[in-house]
Amino acid sequence: MRPFAFSRADSIESAVQHYQAEPHSTFVAGGTTLLDLAKLDVMRPSRVIDINDLPLKEVERLEDDRLRIGALVTNANLARHPDVKQDYPLLAQAIMAGASTQVRNMATTGGNIMQRTRCPYFRDVAAACNKRAPGSGCDAIDGINRMHAVLGGSESCVAVHPSDMCVALAAIGATLTLQGPDGEREIDFADFHYLPGTTPHREHALGEGELIVAVTLDPPLRPLGTAYTKLRDRASYEFALASAGAMLSLDDGMIGEARLALGGVATRPWRCHEAESLLVGRRADEAAFKEAADTALAEAKPLSHNAFKITLARQAIVRALRDARERHS
Ligand code: SF4
Repeated sequence: MRPFAFSRADSIESAVQHYQAEPHSTFVAGGTTLLDLAKLDVMRPSRVIDINDLPLKEVERLEDDRLRIGALVTNANLARHPDVKQDYPLLAQAIMAGASTQVRNMATTGGNIMQRTRCPYFRDVAAACNKRAPGSGCDAIDGINRMHAVLGGSESCVAVHPSDMCVALAAIGATLTLQGPDGEREIDFADFHYLPGTTPHREHALGEGELIVAVTLDPPLRPLGTAYTKLRDRASYEFALASAGAMLSLDDGMIGEARLALGGVATRPWRCHEAESLLVGRRADEAAFKEAADTALAEAKPLSHNAFKITLARQAIVRALRDARERHS
């Protein structure tokens, strides 16, 4: 690992000032992505700014019924928070499907949103990778691309966004609060992660020196049934080959509101708006669920080694919708 300078921020303002004082700085909280990538020489910060002392560890119910989550709330604490378990069970289910107990104890809400892809070529500095080294090419396109995306890819990059938590945020709907040199601003979670297009190194809407300070969830659906289905190579501590987060609001077996998002198959957390529209007003039965799955995957484009992901994703969607129906309160 290359040497870097280290400083500790005691306020959001000082964190931003530290960053501005030195180009190629980076913030660290749980460190579950940064330290791995620094050891692999993929990330080469000149300064690491520890933000763990910032007052961003609270979960707060707002007057309009939304839930504001500080960016430093750990994944473990978020998944077991009573308001999350009661009103946003999909978020708790998705978090608990990810990583390991140890990682969830360290990883933070903001860091989870900022995590980098697990593409093996991205993590190998000897490989061509447009995301890590713009213009160098993409060894995954004609390489071993079993784990890569079937939705949202481009000729420049087909790397999957790896987060489980972000699949739930995509389905629930959320607003991110960012703070940086120009003050505070808000952005819809749906607009935060970019498609790779021709610039896969530009992954998100965060500006230089900005950091995520809070995530505010949209008001909860009531009544609600939710399920997160994650299909993967082994039962724990593994990234998704395909996952689906489903939320259903039912009235006498009819779907009043539906939310559906996918993970493991797309270049960013993937909300399925057309499939949701198809479900609304339908009876919550297998035929509707299968049609929704077909609609959600209609644009899927397999690579040489991952056509099986489309089948897996279809099964994940149907199972998640079925389980959400069964769990409806
Ligand atoms: Fe890099 Fe994206 Fe290609 Fe992976 S898929 S090698 S991250 S450009």
